[in-house]
Amino acid sequence: MTQGKYANIIIDISHEKVDKTFQYKIPEQLRGILEEGMCVQVPFGKGDHLRQGYVVEVTDQTQFPEDRLKQVAGIVRESLPVEADAIKLAAWMKQTYGSTMIAALKTVLPVKQAMKPKEKKKITRLLTIEETRWVWAEAIRKHQGARAKVLEELIREEVLPYELVRAKLNVSPTTLKSLESQGIIKIERENYYRNPVKLEVNREDGRELNGEQARIRDQVLCDFDEGKRKTYLIHGITGSGKTEVYLSLIEGMIKRKKQCIVLIPEIALTYQTLLRFYKRFGDRVSVMNSTLSAGEKFDQCERAKKGELDVIIGPRSALFVPFPNLGMIVIDEEHESSYKSETMPRYHARESAEYLAGLKGACLVLGSATPSLEAYYRAQKGSYELFTLNRRPTGGNLASVSIIDLRKELREGNRSIFSRKLQELMEERLSKKEQAMLFLNRRGYAGFVSCRACGYVMKCPHCDVSLSQHLGGRMVCHYCGYETRQPQKCPECGSAYILGFKAGTEQIEQQLLSRFQGIRVLRMDADTTRKKDSYEKILAAFCAGEADVLVGTQMIVKGHDFPNVTLVGVLAADLSLNDSDYRSGERTFQLLTQAAGRAGRGQRPGEVLIQTYRPDHYSILCSASQDYRAFYEKEIMYRGLGGYPPVIHMMAILITSPNEKRGETFAGRIVEMIKEQMPCLADNSDVKKVDTSGKVTLIGPARASIGRINDIYRFLIYCKSSKYRQLTKIKDIVESYVQSAGSREENIQFDFDPVNNI
Ligand code: ADP
Ligand code: ZN
Ligand code: ZN
Repeated sequence: MTQGKYANIIIDISHEKVDKTFQYKIPEQLRGILEEGMCVQVPFGKGDHLRQGYVVEVTDQTQFPEDRLKQVAGIVRESLPVEADAIKLAAWMKQTYGSTMIAALKTVLPVKQAMKPKEKKKITRLLTIEETRWVWAEAIRKHQGARAKVLEELIREEVLPYELVRAKLNVSPTTLKSLESQGIIKIERENYYRNPVKLEVNREDGRELNGEQARIRDQVLCDFDEGKRKTYLIHGITGSGKTEVYLSLIEGMIKRKKQCIVLIPEIALTYQTLLRFYKRFGDRVSVMNSTLSAGEKFDQCERAKKGELDVIIGPRSALFVPFPNLGMIVIDEEHESSYKSETMPRYHARESAEYLAGLKGACLVLGSATPSLEAYYRAQKGSYELFTLNRRPTGGNLASVSIIDLRKELREGNRSIFSRKLQELMEERLSKKEQAMLFLNRRGYAGFVSCRACGYVMKCPHCDVSLSQHLGGRMVCHYCGYETRQPQKCPECGSAYILGFKAGTEQIEQQLLSRFQGIRVLRMDADTTRKKDSYEKILAAFCAGEADVLVGTQMIVKGHDFPNVTLVGVLAADLSLNDSDYRSGERTFQLLTQAAGRAGRGQRPGEVLIQTYRPDHYSILCSASQDYRAFYEKEIMYRGLGGYPPVIHMMAILITSPNEKRGETFAGRIVEMIKEQMPCLADNSDVKKVDTSGKVTLIGPARASIGRINDIYRFLIYCKSSKYRQLTKIKDIVESYVQSAGSREENIQFDFDPVNNI
């Protein structure tokens, strides 16, 4: 324990403006007691008003004269001390991703404040059964009905839940009080933890692992016992038994008195997944996600700290549950883009988990059927250990996949979104009463509306994006929520030919209904899943056979087993290739591979049709042949040639301003400043050549691909370097420039190795 005399303190973590530490003296009586992570009260500002702050460091060093320092006033009792590891993690995030320390601290604290424990009252009988019988007879004689009812129950049970007595027996508090004052019963309160999961399940043992699976388990546990802490990547096709491996690894960790964090994309955190963990580990498993109340979150952290939980499951943020003896972190579907935060600090759960595992002495297990280029690249370089699962333990073959050239369909006179082959197969499935899934890899709305006469396009008045057409003539902006009605006439030229383009899921549903007689369709997209539970409800209905076809966006391709689905159609595979960022090929491959994995999960073989205008693109070809390696080799070559992650690192600096001119000037100044202070490659140099010396390439400033959102203008600067450290240096330079410039309206955000366009 540090016996330091000074504490570095961050004031009031809800206040982002004062993002620096202030030093205070630690008074005698708190020396050796005050620790990093504690919440304290300190005098602050001119009036020395007491404010709350977090101790981020206790030290013997000071740069100030002793008498200039104020003193810590006291420790805030009901506050939660922050674990020292959490502070280290926050500091690392701030440094690695660029954000304020305060924002980083807020990110790593799952709950900021202690919540009142939930209470339960119980009634305990103090008399013997004999004595109670006697009192009961007395009550009957005196016609004291309520009293008699309670006593009758107490003869049967020594302890009764208070709520039950009040509600079921309808006995008043007065009656109970009088029983208590006569020494017949005792009313007690006890605390209990809120438990967000209410499942009554029978425990089940795991399956015997097959050879491939057992090898992974044995090696990971063996490494662990030998004190080796590594990152493992399990590349296994869907249904190859990855989850079964996680479960048996967790079992191994529990035997070693270690706890585990399991990250799962929010969308895959279904009842079925939870059930599997519950059957195995009972109520020593819990969940942590955004739907929990503050009290529930607090209680899960308490249970974790007290060692009452072995496993926590949840999306990205479950990483911050404070286990005292963390042994393993599992990240399932590690390629999912939802593992990257979209708000500052824009951290990636995979990298953060690696850092946290290092702090805690835990190992990290990543799993995916289509690993991210990042993870596979690191596995190739040897910094991750790679395992491969090649077959399904339950048997069942991979579906057969064919590619349909939509250009040819059009040439041969078919204007429908359903190719002739797809129509044929659909008819066949309908007659056999088997199910099909149709997948559109774009968000679930129709395209923009434009005038066929003059080309005018309906745009959002606040953002630089076109409005999207919805059923019922609604026009919606998907960035700010602006909504208006579709005009009858073009506002520019007055033509009546102002119409929607392209097909969304709504249109596909309509066309299915008119094309196939009596077909039953379920649709799943952003619109139909807005309500809580609607996602699960749609899936359950489809699983129960309430529809012949499920039409949907990306959501439908995520790991669900529908044994009766024997046909999967991808309607226009190249839609996701048109996104203008370097990950579109990877995303397309992942989506198509996952979609293909949906067919033929039961006993009957499955068929997959991929309709596309670009049948010769490698993302499409490799997903059709289900060949990850071939895809990886092609893609990593392009990343190298183009100078993109993971081959080199990239940092986007987003500059926003309510004023277009000022934003542009500010962005320009930032570029100038970086050039003054860092060795940069010349602007006109070949960006495509990868420079391994770490020299920086600057691109921009330029308007972001969406140049305005909600009337705020957006500019981007891209910095590339083979060395991550060079980029964090630039970040530091820019941060201190922004602070000294003291600009109020211009705002800066950093995004390292961006996953989505910002
Ligand atoms: P993944 O997570 O890779 O999609 P799962 O672990 O969910 O794969 O396994 C797919 C199916 O195979 C599940 O129904 C699971 O119960 C079953 N399974 C996994 N491993 C085995 C095994 N060793 N023996 C028998 N069945 C298994
Ligand atoms: Zn017009
Ligand atoms: Zn808008």
